[in-house]
Amino acid sequence: LALASVMTACGSSEKTADVQASAGTGDTSGALVGVTMPTKSSERWIHDGDNVKASLEKLGYKVDLQYAENDIPTQVNQLENQITKGAKLLIIASIDGTAITTQLQEAADKKIPVIAYDRLIRNSPNVDYYATFDNFKVGVQQATSLLVGLKLKTADGADGEAKGPFNIELFAGSPDDNNATFFFNGALSVLKPYIDKGTLKVQSGQTDFKTVAILRWDPATAQKRMEDLLTKTYSGGKKVDGVLSPYDGLSIGILSALKSNGYGTSSQPYPVVTGQDAELASVKSIIAGEQYSTIHKDTRQLADVTVKMADTVLKGGRPEVNNTKDYDNGNKVVPSYLLDPVIVDKSNYQKIIVDSGYYTQAQLG
Ligand code: BGC
Repeated sequence: LALASVMTACGSSEKTADVQASAGTGDTSGALVGVTMPTKSSERWIHDGDNVKASLEKLGYKVDLQYAENDIPTQVNQLENQITKGAKLLIIASIDGTAITTQLQEAADKKIPVIAYDRLIRNSPNVDYYATFDNFKVGVQQATSLLVGLKLKTADGADGEAKGPFNIELFAGSPDDNNATFFFNGALSVLKPYIDKGTLKVQSGQTDFKTVAILRWDPATAQKRMEDLLTKTYSGGKKVDGVLSPYDGLSIGILSALKSNGYGTSSQPYPVVTGQDAELASVKSIIAGEQYSTIHKDTRQLADVTVKMADTVLKGGRPEVNNTKDYDNGNKVVPSYLLDPVIVDKSNYQKIIVDSGYYTQAQLG
């Protein structure tokens, strides 16, 4: 009886199609997808945007891809425009993970699903899925490679030949980016026992996330902080042996500050400096023996997972996720798909970066 009344209510086949479309199972070809990325000032987001756009277009979607040069009001406007233009789904790599709740509410009111890309969007119920890398693991890997570079550990996890103590300094990413805390907590989970034992000494005493965080991941701010540390803490002849840097752009700023303070010579080599993103300049720097390591997060894989998610959601299905516990955005736990990051240093860049086609040997010079 219930089925019969539904059928009667639907009436014509046209009406049935409407119902299906609003449930997300209708024809999606040519549907508009809004993609917002934080900035073009870092290469990785350019790759991300290009890859996501190309894969969506291959599936027949139209794509509005926007960059906001790390300016929050610009990103807010871009989202409003995409909603107005009739986007059927939004893929968002946010600048400030708490600043777009109003736009997300507008999207929800119009039944536009939202996928958080790489960075979790916080304090809103209107985030449907999250595609990212295992961000805590990124931090663990950064710290592990710092220990390996200092020879406190070997690459296979055994104790290394060095005993320390070593002087290190810590940097973290932007406090408004949820990832930054995950990276830092992951790193400290590895470093803290060494700091507690005195094997690693943070000579500046600055170990608190808020003190070491670099707003908007700005390389110049990191360079300035490193210069200040060198002047205030290391002018009496102490040397820096290692720097935990969460992102290649910051590492470049940190290395410049070190260079202008006499590091990077045969008598005073650079400290072990970590990074993230395998940006071209930093992979070159690793090959040249300046930056020690980076964390490779294959943006091709992230684009792939995200586009599959988007396509499934638009067709009314449930996308595959592999984590439903770690990413609480302050309002709900967002179902997530986490990819695996990889440590890259001079010993394996050829295999991980070149052989996989991420960069060609020619690009690396
Ligand atoms: C990303 C990192 C990137 C950083 C700065 C983070 O949210 O996960 O890959 O290094 O932003 O752009």
